[in-house]
Amino acid sequence: MNKCMHLMCTRPIAVKTAVCVKCGIVHYCSAQCQRPAWRAPELPHKPLCDVIHTLRAVLQLEDSAEWDSWVIRTKATDMQCSSNLHLIKKIADML
Ligand SMILES: [Zn+2]
Ligand SMILES: [Zn+2]
Repeated sequence: MNKCMHLMCTRPIAVKTAVCVKCGIVHYCSAQCQRPAWRAPELPHKPLCDVIHTLRAVLQLEDSAEWDSWVIRTKATDMQCSSNLHLIKKIADML
């Protein structure tokens, strides 16, 4: 079960209700969580999203099915729960 990626929210996500359109992997339970999470004081999604977006371009995972399989292979969904720095380091190691 995916958890809403807005830190203040503890609701699980039953269906893919709100997916960030730019990075395509970060999920929220609703647009009400997606908007504040973008500029949250703690772990804002914006810098993280930029990293994911760049990574996606570098790996040339234009096709969403390819991207999904890459996310599953690298367990990128688990990384969403970690800090931005942790994610950036992991991505740097992979490139
Ligand atoms: Zn939420
Ligand atoms: Zn995003």
